[in-house]
Amino acid sequence: HASLNERDPETAAILNQELKRQADGIELIASENMASQAVMEAQGSVLTNKYAEGLPGKRYYGGCVDVDKVENLAIERLKKLFGVQYANVQPHSGANANQAAFMALVKPGDTILGMSLAAGGHLTHGAAPNYSGKWFKAVQYGVRKDDGRLDYDEMERLAREHKPSLIVAGASAYPREIDFARFRRIADEVGAALMVDMAHYAGLVATGLYPSPVPFADIVTTTTHKTLRGPRGGVVMTNNPDIAKKLNSAVFPGLQGGPLMQVIAGKAVAFGEALKPDFKAYQQRVLANARALSDELAKRGFDIVSGGTDCHLILVDLRPKGVTGKVAENLLERAGITANKNAVPFDPEKPFVTSGLRLGSPAATTRGFGEGEFRDIARMIDEVLSAGDDEATIQKVRAEVEALCKRFPIYSHAWA
Ligand code: PLP
Repeated sequence: HASLNERDPETAAILNQELKRQADGIELIASENMASQAVMEAQGSVLTNKYAEGLPGKRYYGGCVDVDKVENLAIERLKKLFGVQYANVQPHSGANANQAAFMALVKPGDTILGMSLAAGGHLTHGAAPNYSGKWFKAVQYGVRKDDGRLDYDEMERLAREHKPSLIVAGASAYPREIDFARFRRIADEVGAALMVDMAHYAGLVATGLYPSPVPFADIVTTTTHKTLRGPRGGVVMTNNPDIAKKLNSAVFPGLQGGPLMQVIAGKAVAFGEALKPDFKAYQQRVLANARALSDELAKRGFDIVSGGTDCHLILVDLRPKGVTGKVAENLLERAGITANKNAVPFDPEKPFVTSGLRLGSPAATTRGFGEGEFRDIARMIDEVLSAGDDEATIQKVRAEVEALCKRFPIYSHAWA
């Protein structure tokens, strides 16, 4: 029963350093969150030891009576959370969930239409270096140059021209509501299936604060670790029984071997948490905080792509401030604020440099920050980025960040 500390002090020390980094810094990466102690306990459990290829009640291994129960619990809770009839909770990640959806709906060589990475889409929606861009004829839509909003007219024109077998909606860096009904109409017109990857918005969708794609999509995929605040992983959902069968065999044996039962237990816990009323209150704070951050940055002369946000994230165009995304990410990290550089639409800089920052509220909201703290964060970001590479300013802000974080210790709140 040696603890990690006793058995492997070297690894334990690294984990402790990371705990300190998360505790003492402000996390603004839009795709991150802080899962509860209960979620982490499930993931660190004896379920790690169990093989369970197949589905509950239909396994290729013995001894699955308990893991069957936990997988069924995760499935039932997920179905309730999003109002779907069929769900598979085994995908190891969001990318795997999307791959399963592709495997269920299209064949290599088929045409797919998704949002381009440069405009805020995800790699797995048809980007050239990803399998989705290599194995399919990927056509990509984007956003409008004038207002940064999804270019539905372009999307529809491309759909009519290329007649894709599959249209993909959803994004990684798009701050506005997506009109899923409009996607459904064009999919029906051109005879395409519609898949929605709601990874970023899932927690907001679960609580009715962002439009649900469920009534419109043939398949909905999501990660479980972003706004949904669960363990790292993915899920796939549908209301169509034939597609449900295809999805199940795409996940296993199509793409994966044994499911990560400890993660599935973590998913069950997280979906249970998301079904509780206080999860909606949390998501309301996520929205209010993202808006406060956006508003305060705009007041300070930052250019917010699309002029604001309908969700948990904002995209900041840094060009008016004369700093690139790469430089900004680095300066902020030195001040204890973690964010990621991100291309803005029609970005003239290379993807490794970029002109923008993507900022999100989920993780810092989880630790208890409210609108006042988020306005303060905007001021600190402004101070750091306006000072250039000025060590004194960075250290001053770093001290402020640490003081703020001390007032809101992680893993100290009711949810934890
Ligand atoms: N889909 C979207 C929209 C995402 O933003 C992401 C993650 O960044 C993924 C899928 C992939 O998820 P994962 O990193 O778990 O593979």
